[in-house]
Amino acid sequence: MKVGCHLSSSGGYLAMAQTAVSIGANVFQFFTRNPRGGAAKPIDANDVAAFIEYASANGIGPILAHAPYTLNAAGAEPRVREFAEATMADDLVRLERTPGAMYNFHPGSHVGQGAEAGIRLISDMLARIFDAFGRAPSTTVLLETMAGKGSEIGRTFEELADIIEKTESRAKGVKLGVCLDTCHVWDGGYDIVGDLGGVLDEFDRVVGIGRLKAVHTNDSMNVLGAHKDRHEKIGKGKIGLEAFRRIVNEPRLRSLPFYLETPCDLQGYKEEIELLKSLVA
Ligand SMILES: [Zn+2]
Repeated sequence: MKVGCHLSSSGGYLAMAQTAVSIGANVFQFFTRNPRGGAAKPIDANDVAAFIEYASANGIGPILAHAPYTLNAAGAEPRVREFAEATMADDLVRLERTPGAMYNFHPGSHVGQGAEAGIRLISDMLARIFDAFGRAPSTTVLLETMAGKGSEIGRTFEELADIIEKTESRAKGVKLGVCLDTCHVWDGGYDIVGDLGGVLDEFDRVVGIGRLKAVHTNDSMNVLGAHKDRHEKIGKGKIGLEAFRRIVNEPRLRSLPFYLETPCDLQGYKEEIELLKSLVA
């Protein structure tokens, strides 16, 4: 099983991998820079080299880099969109140092412009970034499923499929993926508790199951369709432990990496990682 959690990147790559091993994880997620945005720390080549060696010796990966959550490719103001574009472009260049990583971002919020306009802005931005890159990056870029809070785009599988189609038709050789957040899809109205198989059938029909590359594994403080996005510890929320037992054993999910983003400290994550492993039949 590939399972881990979100870790602080303040100590660098090697420190994250060592922390992961210390809590029984073999994957981890981290913010590429301050989650509210701003400049990223310069990359330490020695740290990256030590990380790559340690990760391969300890079976760590794939690592999942998370874009700052303030990034809004669908913003109404050019300054907001330019920040999103420059940040993502810079993140993808930096991630070439750790080949085979994945990069997750929240598609964006249309802030009253309408979902269609938002989807166009997001796919335009992605196409420009890949175009400037000159080739397909070694990093797989993932769109995250969203709860539909405010004017968030990406609550429905149709919106994600639309962004993918509009981007890939222009960015040759690029293959986008999707990160399924269990809390977000539940809050977004997909009943993964009552009908996990049906939700995945629908994902397969609309997006294609092969696009699914990662699972953000979070319980939810809210009821189905609440459009809220408040993560809860595994088994302590409205999704519940039995649903997570089905999630980690589901044939279409079980080989994917599971990343916890629950309100836990390191000890709490260690216990949740053990819990998820214990659910595997
Ligand atoms: Zn996220």
